[in-house]
Amino acid sequence: MTSAREQLLAELAVRIEQVAPQEASVRHALGAMLIDVREDDERAAGTAAGAIGIARASLQARIAAIVPDRNTPILTLCGGGARSLLAADTLQQLGYTHVASVSGGFKRWRAENLPLHFDQFDADAAERYSRHLVLPEVGAAGQVKLGKARIALIGAGGLGSPAALYLAAAGTGTLTLIDDDKVEKSNLQRQVLHTDARVGMAKTESARMTLAALNPRVHIQSRGERLRATNVEALIRDHDVVIDGADNFSTRYLLDAACRHLKIPLVYGAVHRFTGQVSVFDARRADSPCYRCLFPAPPAAEDAPNCAEAGVLGVLPGIIGLLQASEAIKLVLGIGTPLVGRLLCFDALAAAFRELRLRRDPECPGCGINVEFTGYEDIARICASH
Ligand SMILES: [Zn+2]
Repeated sequence: MTSAREQLLAELAVRIEQVAPQEASVRHALGAMLIDVREDDERAAGTAAGAIGIARASLQARIAAIVPDRNTPILTLCGGGARSLLAADTLQQLGYTHVASVSGGFKRWRAENLPLHFDQFDADAAERYSRHLVLPEVGAAGQVKLGKARIALIGAGGLGSPAALYLAAAGTGTLTLIDDDKVEKSNLQRQVLHTDARVGMAKTESARMTLAALNPRVHIQSRGERLRATNVEALIRDHDVVIDGADNFSTRYLLDAACRHLKIPLVYGAVHRFTGQVSVFDARRADSPCYRCLFPAPPAAEDAPNCAEAGVLGVLPGIIGLLQASEAIKLVLGIGTPLVGRLLCFDALAAAFRELRLRRDPECPGCGINVEFTGYEDIARICASH
C-alpha cells in the first residue's frame, strides 16, 4: 500500500521533467537557475556550485523576488530528488514555465563529482542580488566571485563615493577605504557618501556608516591614512583591484608604482571642471600601459590644480567614478573588454565620450623595458619637489 505522498511523487515524476545532474550542470552553465530547496542546515554542509538556497517551505514567498521572469529556466535540487519534485510542482503552479527537477538530488550530484561549493548562498543574498543572478554573465558563480573580491579605494571623495556605493550594493566582499581627510561642507556637492550631519567626521567613518546601511553583508575596512611610500604596499597588498580616486599627482604616481610592482589592476579616473577620463592599467598584462605611459612626469604644481583650485561640476565625478566601478566589477568577474590601452574621455558640456588609444611606451619611466624597481621613496620625492 502506497502513502499519499508516494502517490503524489509518482504522479509528479510523470508530469515534471527530471534531468540527470550532469545535464543539469550543463543547463546551469547556459543560464538556468539552480535552486537548492533543502533546509539551511543541510546546505551548510555543501551544495552544488552556483546553486541558490531557498528552503522549500519559503519558496512560494521568496521566488518572485529572486526570479521575477517566469520564463527563466529553473532546476530544483534537493537531497535525493523527491522534495525537488514537490518544489518544481510548486513553481509550475506559480506560473514558472521551464522547471525541471534534478534526479538523484545533491547525493547524486556529489557522487558524480560535479562542482560543489561550501559558502552558503543564503536567501538574503539570493534576493538582494537577484538581478545579478539572472544575468548569465554574472549568475551565482559571478556573485560568489564578487563576494570574495577585495577592492581598495584610494579616496572616499568625489570618485570614491559613487564607486564605493555601487561596489557595496553589488556585493563586493571587502571594500578597503583609504583616506585621511575629514568631511567638509564643500565636499557634499559631489561626495555623496557623506551627509550634512557628518561634517567634521573622518571620511572613512562616514563612508563606513553609509555603506553598512546600504549593504550590511559587505566587509568595510577603514584606513584613515594618507598613502605614502612607507605604507603604500601594506595598504593595497592582497587586493584584487585598486580604484584610484586620488586628488593629487603624488598619490597617483605612488599608487601606479605599487600596483605595477604588486601586479594589481589599477582603475584610473580623474575629473577636471567639466571633463573626466578613465582607463585601466593592468600590470598582469604585458601589453598594458601604465599611468606613466600617459603622464611620464608629474606636472608643475601650477599646471595641476586640484578640485579645490579649479572647481568641478558636481555630477562629473559621479559619472567617472561609476565607470571605474563598472571596470572593477568586470575585472573581478572576468567579463567584457576592460579599458586597458584605452583612455575614455567624457565632456559633460558636449555630452560626448571620446576614446584615445594608449600604447605601452617602451621608454616609459615607469614600465619601460630598462626600468628597474628601486623602491617608492624616489617616486614620492619627484612630486614633493613641485
Ligand atoms: Zn608605463
